[in-house]
Amino acid sequence: MLELEASPEIDPICAHCSTPLRKLLYQELRGMLGRRFIYYCSHCHKVLGVSHRKGFWMG
Ligand SMILES: [Zn+2]
Repeated sequence: MLELEASPEIDPICAHCSTPLRKLLYQELRGMLGRRFIYYCSHCHKVLGVSHRKGFWMG
């Protein structure tokens, strides 16, 4: 069992360029499936993740 602990003093590290992330860039994607957001590193611009929220009614 893993514990979840907030650690705002530790910067996340980019999985691609190993730069500490103090800022995460994102762009909004719109399409048939609804709104999504793509997140990417402000340093190397490689994609770190995409939100899977399909709409407010689906959470
Ligand atoms: Zn990076």
